[in-house]
Amino acid sequence: MADTIFAKIIAGEAPCHRVFEDDQVLAFLDIFPISRGHTLVIPKEPAVRLHELSDASSAAIGAVLPRICRAVLRATGAVDYNILQNNGAAAHQAVMHVHFHIIPKYADGSGLGVGWKPAKLDGDEAAALATSIAAMLA
Ligand code: 5GP
Repeated sequence: MADTIFAKIIAGEAPCHRVFEDDQVLAFLDIFPISRGHTLVIPKEPAVRLHELSDASSAAIGAVLPRICRAVLRATGAVDYNILQNNGAAAHQAVMHVHFHIIPKYADGSGLGVGWKPAKLDGDEAAALATSIAAMLA
C-alpha cells in the first residue's frame, strides 16, 4: 500500500509530469517548482533517507542522475543548477521517500538560495573525526 505521495506516483495512483522512468528510477517535474525545470529523481525502492537505500538502487540513481541533469539543462537553457537531497524533517524533508531535486539556477536569481554559515575546521577535532568516520567505513 502506497504511504507517501511519491509511492502513489510510482504505483500510478497519483499523476505526475514524468520525464524519465526505468525499472528502478522515476523522474518527474516538481509540482511546486522553485525554478523552471525543477525536477525530482526518485528510486522506486521505498527508502525514507539516502543512507537507507540499497546499493543497487543507489547505483541505479547514480547512473541516470547526470543524464537527467543534462536533459533538464538542454530543455531549459540553464547552465548552472543545484542538486538538493534532504534527509529528515529537521533537514527540510517533507516527503518521506528518498528524492533528489535538480534545480536550475537562472540569471534572474530563481533557483535554490543557500544559507551557509561556514566555520573554520578545527584541526584537532578534524583528525579525530576523520579517523572515526573512516573507521565506520571499514
Ligand atoms: P522535500 O522538502 O521533501 O525535499 O521536497 C519535496 C518536494 O516534493 C517539494 O519540492 C514538493 O513541491 C514536491 N511535491 C510534493 N508533493 C508532490 C506531488 O504530489 N507531485 C509532485 N510532482 N511533487 C510534489
